[in-house]
Amino acid sequence: MIVRAALPTTDVLIRGVHAVDVRAGLDGLSDVLVVDGKIAELVPTGGLDSYDTGGLTVIDGAGLHCFPGFFDPHVHARTPGQGYKETIATCTAAAAAGGFTGIVAMPNTNPVVDSTSVFGALLETARQGAVIGIGFTACITKGMKGAELTEMAALKDLGAVAFTDDGLPVTDAHIFRMACRYQQLVGSVLMLHEEEHALSGGGAMNEGAVSAALGISGQPNIAESTLIARDGAIALYEDARIHVQHISASESLDAVREARGRGTKITAEASPHHLCLTDEKCRSLDTNCKMNPPLRTEKDRQALIAAVLDGTIDCIATDHAPHSRDEKALPFEEAPFGSTGLETSFAACYTELVLGHGLELGRLVELLGSGAELIDLQPAKLIAGEPADLCLVDLGRRWIVGEDGYVSKSANSAFAGLELQGKVVLTLSHGAVAHRDAALDHPFDTAGTR
Ligand SMILES: [Zn+2]
Ligand SMILES: [Zn+2]
Repeated sequence: MIVRAALPTTDVLIRGVHAVDVRAGLDGLSDVLVVDGKIAELVPTGGLDSYDTGGLTVIDGAGLHCFPGFFDPHVHARTPGQGYKETIATCTAAAAAGGFTGIVAMPNTNPVVDSTSVFGALLETARQGAVIGIGFTACITKGMKGAELTEMAALKDLGAVAFTDDGLPVTDAHIFRMACRYQQLVGSVLMLHEEEHALSGGGAMNEGAVSAALGISGQPNIAESTLIARDGAIALYEDARIHVQHISASESLDAVREARGRGTKITAEASPHHLCLTDEKCRSLDTNCKMNPPLRTEKDRQALIAAVLDGTIDCIATDHAPHSRDEKALPFEEAPFGSTGLETSFAACYTELVLGHGLELGRLVELLGSGAELIDLQPAKLIAGEPADLCLVDLGRRWIVGEDGYVSKSANSAFAGLELQGKVVLTLSHGAVAHRDAALDHPFDTAGTR
């Protein structure tokens, strides 16, 4: 179940915008009319020239692109209990600033989301504060302790969109097997943080030349890939559906391909920071570049990009993980894992994958939406009659991450200070203005035409 606050909608006519949506077979200059929260018309530019614009906000879309709203299946919204890092309101606002109209929140909160009472309260909070759609996952095991399964069926009935102990692996193979059996019964996918603790051993970064030079303990690639291989085998045996979160290592991609080749129902995500950055960024001991799994080597990064291009990776997910300045001010070994990512996701991927590696723009838009399919939802579509979940992007605009601050409550971006290209300037969620860039060239008010 996806929930959002009931916000007032704005009726909008966007003229002459380059609309791109592979799923809708769309790639060309269009006029987009949004009325009562839905896409009322979407026609080649000029088709609505005689439309009565009284009462509409008219936007000159020249030079802008229009995409279906993005969907992020992996976000830490820090609710309940960690409002000093992020809230539902700030997290969904940050997502809207990144062009997202739907996100899925992880359950490693305080308390963790492992009971129907916590889950029910969370839905209520989101109905008040979420400016875009948000769905919630519930834990696989009680207390995320890995010993006893949660009431998965009851949580699913209440609206849990998936199950995960993200932050931790399901270490016990028998418990994981039982989770697979329940997955079969309840249907919602198991989202897996794959990390063999016996191998990762509390490492603060990738194990390699950089960790050796810094004298910091590292996590080897096989800490990730070996658990994917185990879980792929168990999931196949039980015919369960699993999704591998934040793949970082080249060996892990092989593990996914092998499992898939044997018939395992397995999907996989990659995060913008793993696609764009390497452990070289850790040489400065910038704790914003400390995340789990860690930034890997250039070889891993290139393997991940190749896996995006060849379809091994099913979707892009940010693993947006806000932390306070005080927490990230600790020494590298002690600082918490995680980088924010919602506000930079599109720009980072556009800059690195489209401009840098020749990924088709339409394919990137698709990869930024297909996370919805993990939870059995249709991605947003630019088609008349669909909810108006869309964003406008200035692909030519270059910007320095963090120069204007962040919409997120936290500032721990691994991309801070880097120049990216492509800026989301407007996001509509079910026809409500969820984000509007301050520098939107086109005056945007409800007074009418311009
Ligand atoms: Zn994780
Ligand atoms: Zn995570």
